[in-house]
Amino acid sequence: MELSFLGAAGTVTGSRHLLEADGRRILIDCGLFQGLKQLRLRNWGRFPVAPDSVEAIVLTHAHLDHSGYLPRLAHDGFHGPVYATEATVDLCQILLADSAHIQESDADFANRHNVSKHSPALPLYTVKDVDQVMRRLEKLSFDTLHEPLDGIGMRFHRAGHILGASIVEIHWKGCNIVFSGDLGRYNDPLMTDPAVIKNADYLVLESTYGDRHHDQENPENRLEEIIRRTATRGGTVVIPAFAVGRAQLLLWYMYRLKQQGRLPANLPIYLDSPMSVSAVDIYRSHPDDLRLNEADYAAAFNIAYYVRDVEESKALDTAPMPKVIISASGMATGGRVLHHLKRYAPDSRSSILFAGFQAAGTRGAKMLNGAETIKIHGEYIPVRAELHNLSMLSAHADADEIMRWLGNFQKPPKATFLVHGEPEAADTLRLRIKDELGWSCRVAGDLEKVRL
Ligand SMILES: [Zn+2]
Repeated sequence: MELSFLGAAGTVTGSRHLLEADGRRILIDCGLFQGLKQLRLRNWGRFPVAPDSVEAIVLTHAHLDHSGYLPRLAHDGFHGPVYATEATVDLCQILLADSAHIQESDADFANRHNVSKHSPALPLYTVKDVDQVMRRLEKLSFDTLHEPLDGIGMRFHRAGHILGASIVEIHWKGCNIVFSGDLGRYNDPLMTDPAVIKNADYLVLESTYGDRHHDQENPENRLEEIIRRTATRGGTVVIPAFAVGRAQLLLWYMYRLKQQGRLPANLPIYLDSPMSVSAVDIYRSHPDDLRLNEADYAAAFNIAYYVRDVEESKALDTAPMPKVIISASGMATGGRVLHHLKRYAPDSRSSILFAGFQAAGTRGAKMLNGAETIKIHGEYIPVRAELHNLSMLSAHADADEIMRWLGNFQKPPKATFLVHGEPEAADTLRLRIKDELGWSCRVAGDLEKVRL
């Protein structure tokens, strides 16, 4: 059997791992390349194997860097089934539709303003492509060994991370290959710990935070302190947050703070992101996937006013009273949060609170690096608000948590391949695994093919 790394090797996006044996091919994850332009251009290149030669795809979870290339691969000829957990399929529906919508409106903007080298500029895929590929998605339950394809078994274990996220075990030709997907945190209030895996012949492991440790401080304390201070001086707290996962976690913390009387009971909290609101509904419909009991998460998700239409969203910027606005996108690269930043970034009474990793080149990274102005919709906006980054809200295991998870293995896999990490993070983790566990471990090379 052969395993090829068609993406997320030396970088954190574009997860695509190909298993081949007896002339058959299955793909684990089908992610979009994101971030720097040279990476994004790879979404437009030819897929390394003929798309119609891939028999099936297995998804670890719904984040676009793991699922966002599906509509394009299907557009280019892939016509097999796609297997994923129930919540992953539900989340893919909203994430892929949103991704297609952005692609279409970007192409449309480029054509109307003549700013593309391509004439006409085309979207990578359309809402119609998404509708078509969604019909190929098949829901499989957690923890059961399924055999939907002749001779190929698969089992999904809970990974934590986001709703529906899984660690995938593939059984093929007597070999057990485990793909970690993105590993979540231990003791996350919403998601369960990453499942214990005791055995694998081969392991493909993520390494996003392979060289880092998350801040150990309790996020509730920081949130309380920042929100109280801002509200006291009459300001607004704007939280740019990823629609799936981070927004729901923030609601939980706000609920806890209000319940304990640590935030004013009458301080309004707005969730202003249509996708976050849809994601809350999906979280609600999968109670078995959450750590909380039904009463707790129902109460937590009821803490916010859900803003659905644009007029209501705009009205938040004229209402003078102190409030909290949670809005996407998480790195302030687009979405409704831009309107709120335009209004509140110049206001020294207000605070802007980022809730996770800010990639190079984004408005989030620029603001945290001390930019005095940021450009939004062609205007330079002064930044006078108080700025914070709560990195402890990350959905990824840090280096110690990855090592803790590896500690469950009863014997070392024959080989461990590190993916989904910048070169330094992956290599730091490789050394730790070699030194502390004595395992055979290497960093996967881009487009490298290994024989198992
Ligand atoms: Zn992820």
